[in-house]
Formats: sequence, C-alpha cells, structure tokens
Amino acid sequence: MSVRVRVAPSPTGDPHVGTAYMSLFNLAFARQQGGEFLLRVEDTDRARFRADSEQQVYDMLRWLGLDWDEGPDKGGPRGPYRQSERLETYRPHAERLIADGHAYLCWCSGARLAEMREDQQKRKLPTGYDRRCVGLDRAARAALPGFSDTPVVRMLVPDDPPLRFHDLVRGEVSAPRPDDQVLLKADGFPTYHLAVVVDDHLMGITHVVRGEEWISSTPKHLLLFDWLGWERPAFAHMPLLRNADKSKISKRKNPAARLTWFVEQGYLPEALLNFLGLLGYSVPGEQEIFSFEQMSQSFDWARVNTVGPVFDLDKLAWLNGHYMRELSESDFAGRVLPFLQGAGLVGDPAAPVELAALTALVPLVQTRVALLSEVPALVRFLFTPEASFQVEASAVEKALTPANAPVLAAAAQALEGLDDWSAASVQAVVDAALLEDGLGLKRGKAYLPLRAAVCGASISPPLPESMALLGRERTLRRLRAGAALAADRESAERDPGVG
Ligand code: GLU
Repeated sequence: MSVRVRVAPSPTGDPHVGTAYMSLFNLAFARQQGGEFLLRVEDTDRARFRADSEQQVYDMLRWLGLDWDEGPDKGGPRGPYRQSERLETYRPHAERLIADGHAYLCWCSGARLAEMREDQQKRKLPTGYDRRCVGLDRAARAALPGFSDTPVVRMLVPDDPPLRFHDLVRGEVSAPRPDDQVLLKADGFPTYHLAVVVDDHLMGITHVVRGEEWISSTPKHLLLFDWLGWERPAFAHMPLLRNADKSKISKRKNPAARLTWFVEQGYLPEALLNFLGLLGYSVPGEQEIFSFEQMSQSFDWARVNTVGPVFDLDKLAWLNGHYMRELSESDFAGRVLPFLQGAGLVGDPAAPVELAALTALVPLVQTRVALLSEVPALVRFLFTPEASFQVEASAVEKALTPANAPVLAAAAQALEGLDDWSAASVQAVVDAALLEDGLGLKRGKAYLPLRAAVCGASISPPLPESMALLGRERTLRRLRAGAALAADRESAERDPGVG
C-alpha cells in the first residue's frame, strides 16, 4: 500500500510555524516512500475561522518549497479537501455509532455543563462529562433541568479504552483515559475528533504525523477507527517546538511562531527549512547543514528527536548566513529586490535592467548582512536622487566636522581628474591624496567623512566600491556638498548665534 500522509492546518489566523514543521516531516517521509502528501484544511471551527488564512498557508508552504500532491486548491481523487465542504460526510458515521451503541445524544445545556465542571473542581473530582443523558430519550431528558433543544453526539468511552499504542517516534506510548468526547456539535458540525478520523480513513491516510499535543486524543481516535471497522493508521507524534523557557511556541508570545515573520525579516526559505529539519531530525553524520533531499533520502523515524526542541534563533541566523553566502549574485539580487521595493527604493519588479544593476551591488552587501531586510539601509545611498539625498544627523555630527572639511575638499579635488572610474582607481587616488603621501591621515580617519558624505551614514559597504557604483558626478557632488556642510558648521560653531 502506498504511503499517504497529510498536514491538516486549521485556518484560524497567520499560519503557524508548526504547520511548516509538520509539513516538512510529512513530506520528507512521503517523498522517501514514493507516497503522497495531502493538504487538508480543517475549517470546522467557525468561531476562529479567518478567510485569508488558507491562502497564507498555501503561500507559506510554497515559499518553503513544501508542495502537496492533493489539496483544496489542487483537487485529487479523495476530495474535497476542505472539511467545511464535507459536512454531509460526517453525520452518517455519527449516526452509525449511535445505532451501534458507541455514541449517544446529549442534551445538556452549556450552563449545565459549566455548573457540572465547577462542582467537580470544587469537590476535587476528575473533570469530565457525567453521563446525565446516557440511556435517556429526548422526553425523559427534557423533564430534567439543564436541557437544551439541540443535542450533541458524544462517544461512549468503554471501561477499557485503548490507552496504549505504538508511536513511530516514541515507541510504546500511554495516554490518559478520555472523556465522552463530543463528536457532532449542536450546529451539526463535526468536532476535530470525528472529522479527523473520518477524513484520515476516507483519504487513505496510512501514517498520521502530527504534534505531540495530540497524543492524549489518540485513544479516542483509535476507538473510532475500531468502532467504524476501519484499519488504524500508524501514528508519529512530533515533539513540540518550544520557546527558550521550554513553553510551547505560541503566536501570542513569540513573533517567530508566525511563518510570515520569517519572510518579513528576510530569512531565506532554505535556511528556515534546514532549521526546522534540524530541530526535529539528525541526518546520518550529524552535520547541521542539510537539504530537504538529504533529509528525505535518509528519513528514519528513529532519527526524529523526542525532546521538545528549543527554537534557537541564533542557530537560524547562523544557517541563514550560510545560505546567504551560497547564493549566486543574480539569485541574491532577485531575493533582495522585494525588500528594495518594500523600502520604496526601486519600482517595477519585472524590470530586467534593475535586476542587472542590482547584481552589481551584490558583492558590496552579500557578506555584510545576516538578513535580506538589512540590505535596503546599506544601499539606500545609491537609490536616493541627489535632490533628496541627506546625510544622517548622527553622521554629520560625528564625521562632517569643521576639521574634516579640507579632507572632503581634497578628495573631491583629487578625484576630479580621474578618468578610469573604477573602485581600484578611486581608491588609489583617494589614498594618494589623503594618506601618507597627501594629508598624512590614517585610512580609517580619512574614510570616515568620505563615507558620511557619499553614503549618508556611518556604516556603508566598502567605500571605493560604493563610490565606483555611485558614479563620478554624484560622488563629486556629494563630496563637495559634504565639504561645504562641514565648513558651514565651522562658522556656525564660531558664531552660534548665526543660522
Ligand atoms: N487541525 C489540527 C491542527 O490544527 C490537525 C491535527 C492533526 O494533524 O491531526 O493541529
């Protein structure tokens, strides 16, 4: 039988990093086995449903290269793959369970259940449904207090439910005794527990690979598979991703729980994918840098971690740096482009001229940034028209001092006559004018005001290369403007009343 696995996100907001993590492990296993990977949208929780969330899940998984074989957008032989489109599928199974004595109608009102729970807590009893409705028909139940007109369907958990099961990651696992779980809600929607079992069966899922938070639900699922006469799938419960304080990663506490955060921050998808793999898996040889293919080819449940991996962003930054340096210049330029657009520095994404021009910048920045989002600040000086170019106040303060006015003027003068406007020639001319043979300055001191005047900031890509890219006219203009500004500050300092 061919392997079929699935990821089953609930579209309740920004996609969670756990969805990518589960997808990665499901897909790595599916590819190794020559099986299929399905995307099923579990949208039965209407209160928490968010319309744009499903598309975001698609976008984020595709960004990571975790594509699926069957899903709501792609169709497939076992669809529909959106639970809200399968509603009529679930009820007959619930009815069959009632007919077989494995489930019952429960008319207890929400208020009655809350009261019951409170009482159990007060008396330090285990909480759980007290089976008030078991054995009663509607009329008999209606005669008692706490009756609601629209019943739910509950499973009747037997005295000896299957509490132990085999897990591919953990070996033998025991889970606590389940409550009489609601299967069909008063609004006719199935709960997760009914829908997941029905769909996993009907979609031919052979291996349920999901987060460890579902271990305690597995006995209910096993009961349902058994009662409905369906073969149980294999189970693999992945360790939960954790914050540094070991708590479960949540979108409320940690921005990195949102997949879109990684895109915004300028992480590379290959780095995030490697990172997620590393959190839960070790490839043979234990190396930390590995591709999806390496993970998939070596895939072995025995290599999956059982301890909740800590989400260590320093490790991700390190991986990101590695993958950033690996990119070809044109690839790097293409990835930087959206960030330059986002910063308003360049326009049309399709303009090939821009991409070519951008490629020339890459050597200046590729090894200097940890994240793509850091690039715009470094190259802003190149994209700013002269009319709106301004030196940052802190750089003016520090570098465009009156004492530096002659340094800027000397550089401008020396560069005026330079024909070959390349980084090497620019550097040779500037150095001759400002270092030992010229003004006698050390290079650091000499470049400080030049950098401020030309790049507008105290931090920039290498200065000669920056000047070469900026071009003769613009460089000279900025050096002269910088010299004038520095000199002006002298008169302003002499006579603070002026200006
Ligand atoms: N919809 C569930 C979730 O969001 C899926 C759990 C499962 O994979 O069984 O986590």
